[in-house]
Amino acid sequence: MYDFAIIGGGIVGLSTGMALGKRYPHAKILVLEKESQWAFHQTGNNSGVIHSGIYYKPGSLKARFCREGCRSMVEFCQEHGIDYEICGKVIVATTPEELPRLENLYQRGLENGIKIKRISPEEVKEIEPYVSCLGAIHVLSTGIVNYKQVCKKYAEIIAQQGGDLRLNTKVEKIITNNNCHVLETNNGTFKTRFTINCAGLHSDRVAKGGGVDPQAKIVPFRGEYYELKPEKRYLVKGLIYPVPNPEFPFLGVHFTRMIDGSVHAGPNAVLSLKREGYKKTDFDWRDFVEVMTYPGFWKLAAKHADEGIKEIIRSLSKAAFTKSLQKLIPQVQAEDLIPTHAGVRAQALLYDGKLVDDFLILHGQNSVHVCNAPSPAATSSIEIGKAIVAQIPDQQHLQTTLVR
Ligand SMILES: Cc1cc2nc3c(=O)[nH]c(=O)nc-3n(C[C@H](O)[C@H](O)[C@H](O)COP(=O)(O)OP(=O)(O)OC[C@H]3O[C@@H](n4cnc5c(N)ncnc54)[C@H](O)[C@@H]3O)c2cc1C
Repeated sequence: MYDFAIIGGGIVGLSTGMALGKRYPHAKILVLEKESQWAFHQTGNNSGVIHSGIYYKPGSLKARFCREGCRSMVEFCQEHGIDYEICGKVIVATTPEELPRLENLYQRGLENGIKIKRISPEEVKEIEPYVSCLGAIHVLSTGIVNYKQVCKKYAEIIAQQGGDLRLNTKVEKIITNNNCHVLETNNGTFKTRFTINCAGLHSDRVAKGGGVDPQAKIVPFRGEYYELKPEKRYLVKGLIYPVPNPEFPFLGVHFTRMIDGSVHAGPNAVLSLKREGYKKTDFDWRDFVEVMTYPGFWKLAAKHADEGIKEIIRSLSKAAFTKSLQKLIPQVQAEDLIPTHAGVRAQALLYDGKLVDDFLILHGQNSVHVCNAPSPAATSSIEIGKAIVAQIPDQQHLQTTLVR
């Protein structure tokens, strides 16, 4: 019998395992991941940015966990010798209409306590010589890291703490019996006193299987990237972002210098017809029908039809994608861009068509379910893990086994 079982070996599941091991050093902890590697889905296909926390609604979990997470991620990388760099980023307004939005974002950043500066187009040129803009914010605390490496270290720490880590193990059924859960997998059956669902793109289904209705559905949004040809990398020194549309949870296509020196451009945001659909042609009937028959999706589509169509065009046409990037750096040409990996975001969508903006952590019987952990969850992972552990009630039956 395990004390805790975590479903999902992405960055949230692994950080939770690490935090549990610290809080309960005698507990028997199990991490179950269906893939053959850690961080195989969202975590392993993201932009690798350590976000500062400028964007998020003051007082939200995202704002708090991201600001603190930015600091704890950097400390973790320093302590464990993981390559990272605080390269800073510029958020640039390229049209007059974007200037008031840039100002709002600046005020929000100040409210969130982020180290930021309002800078002129000339000052932007000193940081990013090839950017053309009307005004910008310089965010000093933003950085870059490889989150796969971070996860590898989280997993090593869990193993050192005595945790049991199982790859290739998919949880197929959760049975609740007298104060314990029986997890049926393709690789055996496991009993646990407490279950933590960190299943990312499948978190709503796992929650339902565990008896909790998240009142929201995960809708997969693919983010496609191009990479700048090596001889064009000089065009980007660090991170260059547009002013985001405040109606939308995504940040807009941007340039990201990765920790290995490559420069990625993207991601866009198109509906994926499969939850783990990394290619445009990927399709899964169950996933597709679930989205198409969900009223929330149609309400969202009606509200953001224009934006949605633009995203589809940008997905199908390299010329349209290039045009978006040229707003930031006019010199970039289609032939400078090579298609590279895509990532799929798990975004929870409510029945009424509203996107769940904040992190969503729900409680069930002896269980916690992370039902919305989009960006900046990688940056915030250490704080999310700590918060989940803090929310676990110190119940009698747990106490007796944990406090030995
Ligand atoms: C394109 C893109 C760019 C992003 N850029 C950034 C960024 O720059 N900075 C940032 O902070 N955040 C970024 N994010 C967000 C960040 O990557 C995610 O918020 C974070 O990785 C979520 O972690 P997770 O552990 O919840 O999910 P995941 O990494 O998806 O992990 C969930 C795991 O659960 C496993 N699983 C699912 N079902 C089962 C089951 N039944 N049994 C066993 N295992 C199961 C899956 O295989 C998966 O490995 C980005 C995301 C995307 C997609």
